[in-house]
Parts: sequence; structure tokens; C-alpha cells
Amino acid sequence: MSRRPIIAGNWKMNKDINEAATLINELKPLVEGAEAEVVFCPPYVDLVEAVKLTEGTNIGIGAQNMHYETSGAFTGEIAGEMLTAIGVKYVVIGHSERREYYNETDEAVNKKAVKALELGLTPIVCCGETLEEREGGKAEAKVVGQIKEGCKNIDDISKVVIAYEPIWAIGTGKTASKEEADEACGWVRKTIEEMYGKDAAEAVRVQYGGSVKPANVAELMAMPNIDGALVGGASLTADFAKIVKF
Ligand code: PEP
Repeated sequence: MSRRPIIAGNWKMNKDINEAATLINELKPLVEGAEAEVVFCPPYVDLVEAVKLTEGTNIGIGAQNMHYETSGAFTGEIAGEMLTAIGVKYVVIGHSERREYYNETDEAVNKKAVKALELGLTPIVCCGETLEEREGGKAEAKVVGQIKEGCKNIDDISKVVIAYEPIWAIGTGKTASKEEADEACGWVRKTIEEMYGKDAAEAVRVQYGGSVKPANVAELMAMPNIDGALVGGASLTADFAKIVKF
């Protein structure tokens, strides 16, 4: 089965509304006609403008997080319904920074993923091991455990995008080798097969994330288990178009 590549930029806490508009306007013509599905994930306060600026283009807009409840006393949180109401189509769930700094658990990741799908949002569910876990031979167990818990009870797993992001490669400039990245994306696919069957595993898209840049994206994308990239730092300039059009 051929899976359409998906390249997503996670802007993290970067770009105010004016900077976001500038970058989107720069990138729009540069990513036009890309073979890959293209996603920009700016900060919440930029989302309305980002959706407006990308209407009628091949760029989809995603949020970097959401709450699984519809409304209520959750100060500082944003509901999935609020995202769909403004035309957001994707949502990053369980990024390692959210797991590390905001104690996001696999249980919360799972509730968010289930809710996102119910709302018609495409969840980009993140997983990945620390350097200590990799060096201790525990990388596979960590990734498999995160997928088993974070991606359970899902009606149609083919609508989920999974991002394998080794924590030691995020924002460090240290990319996993293409073989390491492919092997780990293979662990994800094998786990999905065990949970949902072979067809589902063939259909689900698995991104690699961790210091992806124009110079390394093509070799990563050539690997059989890698269907895209989740990109942090290198998604913040017009050079992101070189990754999108790998
Ligand atoms: C990320 O934050 O998801 C990421 C992969 O960051 P970077 O590309 O900067 O390593």
C-alpha cells in the first residue's frame, strides 16, 4: 500500500501573529504543489489567522495540544471543539515536551487521541525514548508501551498519524541515523499490527521527528517505515519548503 507522506512543522512557542503571517505568506507559494500533505502547527493565538491565510491552499493547520473535555473548569486549556470551530484540522498530542514539562501521561494522550478523532481532527500522536532508555536497551519497550497505551480503543487507526521522536534527537542537532529511525518506526508499525491487524499497520502513517533538516530529509523519507516528518526548529523559516518538497 502506498502511504501519502505527511510533513508537519511544530512551531512550538515561536512566532507572534505578525511573524506567523509573514512566514505563512512566504511559505505558501514555496510549498504549493508538494507531493506530501503539509501541516503547520503554530501557537494557539495564531491559529485563527493561520487558518484564514491558508484557505484554498494545500496547507492544513494544526494545534500543538488540546484538552479531551468539551468545556469546564480547566484554566488555560483549549477544547478540541474550539479547534474545529475555527477550521483547525490536525492536533499534535503527547509531544515529549508536554510529557516532560506538563506531566502528560499515556492515559491523557489516549483520551485526547480518541476525542480528536471523534471531532474529525487528525491526531499526530508522539512517542519516543530518552537517551538513557536508548543506551540502556529499553528504547523498543518504551515506544511499544507508549503506543499500546496511547493508541488503544481507536475506531480507525488509519486516521491517526504517529510521530516517532527520540527525545535525544529533538532540538539537539543530533538526528537518529536513517536505520535507527526506520527501525523504531517499524516498532510502531509492528505494535499497530498486533493491536489492529495487518491492513491497519500498512495504512497508518509514521513520521520521524528529531533534528530533521533539508540536508537529511530525503534519506530519512527513503526508508520503508518512514512516511513523513515532524519538524521543530527547521520549520521556522522559509527553508521548511525544502523539507516539504524533499
Ligand atoms: C519536535 O519538536 O517535534 C522536533 C522534532 O524538533 P526539532 O526538529 O527541532 O528537533
